[in-house]
Amino acid sequence: MAKELLDVRNLSVHYKILAGWVYAVDNVSFKLNRGETMGLVGESGCGKTTTGYGITQLLASNAYIKDGSKVIFDGKDFVEMSTEPSKKFSGYRKIIEYHPEMRKYRWKRISMIFQGAMNAFNPVFKVGDQIIEAILTHEDITEEEARKRVEELYKLVGIPVDRIDNYPHEYSGGMKQRAMIAMALALNPDLIIADEPTTALDVVTQDKILGEMARLQKEKDVAMIIITHDVSVVAEMAHKMAVMYAGHLVETGTTRQIFKETAHPYMEALLKAFPSIKGERKRLKAIPGSPPDLSNPPKGCRFAPRCPYAKDICLEEEPPVVEVAPGHFSKCHFAEELYGELGGEAK
Ligand code: SF4
Repeated sequence: MAKELLDVRNLSVHYKILAGWVYAVDNVSFKLNRGETMGLVGESGCGKTTTGYGITQLLASNAYIKDGSKVIFDGKDFVEMSTEPSKKFSGYRKIIEYHPEMRKYRWKRISMIFQGAMNAFNPVFKVGDQIIEAILTHEDITEEEARKRVEELYKLVGIPVDRIDNYPHEYSGGMKQRAMIAMALALNPDLIIADEPTTALDVVTQDKILGEMARLQKEKDVAMIIITHDVSVVAEMAHKMAVMYAGHLVETGTTRQIFKETAHPYMEALLKAFPSIKGERKRLKAIPGSPPDLSNPPKGCRFAPRCPYAKDICLEEEPPVVEVAPGHFSKCHFAEELYGELGGEAK
């Protein structure tokens, strides 16, 4: 039986700004098993990256986690462990910076492939040395042993070993991305969070990198969360998906369920906005309007101003999360009526 690795429950992360609060992530819940890949998809600015960083507790200093949020990783609740009640704002918790226990989890148990690998490495240090440093920070081994491991990792991700002593500017975009993957794998983590891992790459390199990530994920049996605005990136790689809109998870389920039995109007709109490589050619449809301002989100359904199925109740009441099929959830007042009726172009 698959063993549960991560259980995120009611995670809410809000940012305090001069004008008030930005409700970036609200009541996000999902689970991930060991060796499983989940795609976290949605438009830019919908809270995907904040969710990812909320798991590792690597949030900006103006971020506050709401009471009741839980991030349980391998039985340990990170929120309980490394946050404390905020002295300024009741109902909120603040991350304890440099928490010694939390630091043991970061990179050793959970690593990240950061958004924009082009700039993720320090330009004044050799790439190999930066990976060696990450290993030596967490493991009591010699520099020589760490270098040997980096050589193995370079072979694994397809970078010639003699490039270890090059600086980041001497690498192509694809090589930097591969080096970032090598760094993420350096300590044999249980979970990798990959934030837009292929956004800056051309489609051919993107395809190669995704193929390699899928192979390594299987080989190493590591769980992965792929954060992306591009649903096609996760279509083949992810076992399950979580669709995010304006700080809420609006649909979760297996990748097949989400693509073939779409149960939320936002996901339907996303699918209609992306080209399908199979079937007849169809005109793509842009989603009208833009996402709401998260410092002042609408009181009912946050998708209501853009939703073709919206009714009066959608403007007044926040929709419940409805299980439309085993393991398939949709946050919509009309989830049951719309289930089976929605048609994504990618079907
Ligand atoms: Fe559309 Fe209403 Fe469902 Fe929101 S709750 S997605 S507005 S039908």
